[in-house]
Amino acid sequence: MSKLVPKSTKQGESHRSGRIGWMRASVLGANDGLISTSSLIVGVASAEPNRTAVLLAAVAGLVAGALSMAAGEYVSVSSQADTERADLVRESDELASSPGTERAELAAIYMTRGVSRDLAVQVAAQLMAHDALGAHARDELGIHEITRARPIQAAVASAASFAVGATPPALLAALLPVGELTVAVVAVTLVLLVALGGFAARLGGASVTRGALRVAFWGAVAMICTALVGRLFGAVV
Ligand SMILES: [Zn+2]
Repeated sequence: MSKLVPKSTKQGESHRSGRIGWMRASVLGANDGLISTSSLIVGVASAEPNRTAVLLAAVAGLVAGALSMAAGEYVSVSSQADTERADLVRESDELASSPGTERAELAAIYMTRGVSRDLAVQVAAQLMAHDALGAHARDELGIHEITRARPIQAAVASAASFAVGATPPALLAALLPVGELTVAVVAVTLVLLVALGGFAARLGGASVTRGALRVAFWGAVAMICTALVGRLFGAVV
């Protein structure tokens, strides 16, 4: 990561963390899509080795999963955006009603970060003359343009990443004969999970091997569970 992004400035650092959060969310969405669709396919294939049934399960799983990811993400990021908006409204009221107190408050924040009293008062005054609400949003509330909650963007990104993850097993279900499907889906899914898990670990600066194995392990557990459910159900019906 350090090769891709300059570390020299504070600006660079916040860009980096913004991008990592976004990429990690996409990798998690792809993981979800891959594991849940593969598990559905393996489960249905072991209950009912019928191409149409398996393919229908894969496509329905893809669509339902992507929409549910989008809805969940939209709701959660919207409520975060509401909170940010309410904070900004309250802050802008306070700036209008008691600018002196607000200036002192901002100066105090800079002093706790190590700026001397006189300089902190000057910085607070100049930043507020330039953009009072912006200065308070950043330094008091911690709301930055780059980390600002964007519900639609978050919803589209998680639905798309889920669909991307769900596509390889769904394609296998469309292309392969049902008899070879389970082995192929399990193999392809485990390989992709190892790659995604390793990539996610690398993004977060954690151990690549451990990240890869952890994701692959839980993917394998999910597929074994649905295969068992499918087999039991198939035997009963
Ligand atoms: Zn304030």
